[in-house]
Amino acid sequence: MNFIQTRGQDKNRPQSVTFSQAILAPIASFGGLYVPESLPQLGEDFLNKHINSTYKELASDMLNRFEIDIEKEVIDEALNLYDEFDDASNPVPVVKVKENLYVSELYHGPTRAFKDMALQPFGIVLSSIAQKRNENYLILAATSGDTGPAALETFKNRANVQVACLYPDGGTSDVQRLQMVTEDAKNLKVIGINGVFDDAQNALKRLLASDTFKSALKEKHVSLSAANSVNFGRIIFQIIYHIHSYLELVRQGATTMGEKVYLNVPSGNFGNALGGYYAWKMGLPVEKIIISSNENNVLTKLIKTGKYDLRDSEVVGTTSPAMDILKSSNVERILYDMFGFERTRELMESLEKNDFYELTTQELEELQKSFDADFCNGDEGKAYIKDYFTNCNYLMDPHTATCIKSYETCSDSKIKTIAYSTAEWTKFSPVIANALTGEVDAHDLEALESISKEANLEIPAMVKGLFTKEITQDTIIEKEDIEKEILKFL
Ligand SMILES: *Cc1c(COP(=O)(O)O)cnc(C)c1O
Repeated sequence: MNFIQTRGQDKNRPQSVTFSQAILAPIASFGGLYVPESLPQLGEDFLNKHINSTYKELASDMLNRFEIDIEKEVIDEALNLYDEFDDASNPVPVVKVKENLYVSELYHGPTRAFKDMALQPFGIVLSSIAQKRNENYLILAATSGDTGPAALETFKNRANVQVACLYPDGGTSDVQRLQMVTEDAKNLKVIGINGVFDDAQNALKRLLASDTFKSALKEKHVSLSAANSVNFGRIIFQIIYHIHSYLELVRQGATTMGEKVYLNVPSGNFGNALGGYYAWKMGLPVEKIIISSNENNVLTKLIKTGKYDLRDSEVVGTTSPAMDILKSSNVERILYDMFGFERTRELMESLEKNDFYELTTQELEELQKSFDADFCNGDEGKAYIKDYFTNCNYLMDPHTATCIKSYETCSDSKIKTIAYSTAEWTKFSPVIANALTGEVDAHDLEALESISKEANLEIPAMVKGLFTKEITQDTIIEKEDIEKEILKFL
């Protein structure tokens, strides 16, 4: 299986690239992204075959259908990392929360958020490609708080890879920040910048496209790659858990095989939702994908009105910061899938030039056949956290809580919903403590302790340990100085 570009080809580039190439250089010409030439069709046979499979067996077979240029041994080694999740026999538990509402928990990995689902195996795959080619790679990661820790964790001490991780200083929770600044390995550099997540992501995109930066790296025999969810090497691992979650519903007797369900996804850069969309296209029985957002509700507006409008909009800080995103990169892959590369290029160029595009009526209808959306503000989210804890005995984080609003406003109550939980309560504890007990301005540690008491939950050792770990990464700079700082690290 090869990969092609969402905005078409340019004459200097090959028609299509291998999976390895798409991973190593994730940004295509014309600024587009790589997508598979076609999606493997799984069909009901595949689902039936895997009804009693383990997560790894399902994953291995699904990846196999993509026919990518990675050896089976490497893939197996990568998938073995799911054994390190809380429960090796079930790395992604799916929990019934109430009638017709199931929550698929994607946060049982080492950094307690859903980014581990893809980044854990991705680290092994990328490092093995680099070793095989005898090349050294610099991974640039821009994070709003969860990608950074997960990327650092997966690449820590891996051969032929270095990581420079940019995060908005003050834009992450204490736990997220500590997960990054206490990472101690020679191949890792963590850089706080004075700005918001979009500043970090834009800086990253500029660096990936910058010829001067690339030639400075060349002198050091280092090539660039990226671990953000524009990288298809992450997306491919994010298709699996949607299929797994559906099969889990069948196993639990909640659905019969073939019955359609909603996938309700708390969304930022749209990688998680895109994985669900691809799973659907590959044959998963899905009624609709429901996109949940916070106050940064560009995606809700796009899906409701067909307008992607960034004019006069600025990112606002919310209680679900991993979703504080306005330029949602993976939407481009949906545009490509629905409308083709010429239209995608037209729309994306309009967005880059005018901060705006508008779908035609027909295109909007097409989009709405697959997606619905709503957004949830911070107060509503906290009310849902309290309500579901009190009445359903289920504790969720503020990202997951955004799904409840759209579950109420967008779904037909006869159809089952799989909502995705993207973070453990430990990662956003001050908001949750506030929701449960009304306490305000608590720091993470106090908040963790009060939730632990209130909900009778133990604070996981890997989280508690962060507060006494030595801080080894203390760089905080202006966004203009990023390039210089990274070259210094290399
Ligand atoms: C990254 C993240 C999201 C958003 O996921 P996308 O794939 O970017 O849409 C939502 N919640 C949490 C906790 C995350 O870390």
